[in-house]
Amino acid sequence: MSTIDTLKDRTTPVFDPAAVTVIFVLGGPGAGKGTQCSNLVSQYGFSHLSAGDLLRAEQNRPDSEFGDLIRHHIRNGLIVPMEVTIALLENSMREILNSSPSPPSSSSSPDKTRRGRFLIDGFPRKLDQAHKFEEAVVPARFVLFYDCPEAEMERRLLERGKTSGREDDNADSIRKRFRTFLDTSLPVVDYFDSQRRVVRIDATPEPDAVFAETRRHLAERLGPEFA
Ligand code: UDP
Ligand code: MG
Repeated sequence: MSTIDTLKDRTTPVFDPAAVTVIFVLGGPGAGKGTQCSNLVSQYGFSHLSAGDLLRAEQNRPDSEFGDLIRHHIRNGLIVPMEVTIALLENSMREILNSSPSPPSSSSSPDKTRRGRFLIDGFPRKLDQAHKFEEAVVPARFVLFYDCPEAEMERRLLERGKTSGREDDNADSIRKRFRTFLDTSLPVVDYFDSQRRVVRIDATPEPDAVFAETRRHLAERLGPEFA
């Protein structure tokens, strides 16, 4: 991936923040990020980029030079070196932005497939990723943080593990993922919180109730278009 090489030295955002809205969606493993993102996609026409899904796709791409590296990190609940993940995100964003003609400028457009609105799910999970992405790709508007007790997240993951086929939805990997979340990812939430850029949502209730809360907060932060 040539993007990895250009990322290293880049110190200004490659996308224009006026044209591209990014919301980071964070929360522990099993907090419900993916579920809420699908709701937001159907309701508001965001593009949903899951860092974990992009890494799994890259891991399974036959020509990838990163397959083994990614597999090792995912199984052990570790964070893949940031250049790989950021390059995958940037490439997907560029593909989406280039994929259709410019949207109408009217903000009351009924077009629900507006480009330029991205939910970035499960990223950044480590401070270096947060800094590099905002410096070299585009600054995020804010963070949606789904807050859920560990016991509930564990219950959801074990339930999902029965059918997900994911190599990390087993008791051993889940324990490691929680560890990484507490040690490495919560500091990212604290960092954004110190800049008053975190919307914290209780993710314990059932999904519809969590989505109602999410919509309320989005309307508050992004204006009536999101009501
Ligand atoms: N991962 C990573 N960097 C990221 C996001 C994910 O290395 O920026 C890896 C990490 O090993 C993580 C795994 O991908 O445990 C699965 O992430 P995903 O977001 O799919 O898990 P979720 O929290 O949604 O269950
Ligand atoms: Mg997920």
